[in-house]
Amino acid sequence: TFTETPQLGPHKVILVGDSGVGKSSFMLRLCDDAFNEKMNPSFGLDFKTKVISVNGQEENIQIWDTAGQERFRSITQSYFRKVDGIILVYDITHEESFLNLQNWVTCIQESGQLSAPMTIIGNKLDLEHLRCVSREMATELANFYEADFVEVSAKDGRNINQLGYDLVSKLVERR
Ligand code: GDP
Repeated sequence: TFTETPQLGPHKVILVGDSGVGKSSFMLRLCDDAFNEKMNPSFGLDFKTKVISVNGQEENIQIWDTAGQERFRSITQSYFRKVDGIILVYDITHEESFLNLQNWVTCIQESGQLSAPMTIIGNKLDLEHLRCVSREMATELANFYEADFVEVSAKDGRNINQLGYDLVSKLVERR
């Protein structure tokens, strides 16, 4: 059937980052507004979708999780194929997960996926008292990679909806 407005596909966004930083939890919060304290480590759903309205247009965002394949280079290159956006996740209470972002970026570069916009997320902001990665350090890294940067909590939901909206707005502009 003929439709006046073209049917545009979903914006495909992938999550990358060390195991335990909260990728699955982030996906669950953004898409279902839920949190599960006892997340099954192999929860690893392929993807979840969410509809976000931008400028009166309903946009579909499809968030892909690594499904437990977080060791560098164990992720198949196909995971990075045809992505519209990349979300790099670290845990603000776990410095190694932040330092490892550089390895994740290397993986992305090796896959040839250089043009997709990147967003760096510092998760677990509800654990501010245990913070060991400063906002300044993360901002510096984000500037270096020309990535957006935001701190969130998948647990209490802080800054998550705003992030979803900003991300989709950016993807719409680039389409
Ligand atoms: P993944 O391996 O990166 O997918 O991480 P998960 O989503 O499985 O989360 C790892 C652990 O961190 C789980 O025990 C989660 O309940 C917990 N977690 C995830 N996000 C948050 C958060 O924002 N705050 C707190 N306090 N815990 C979180």
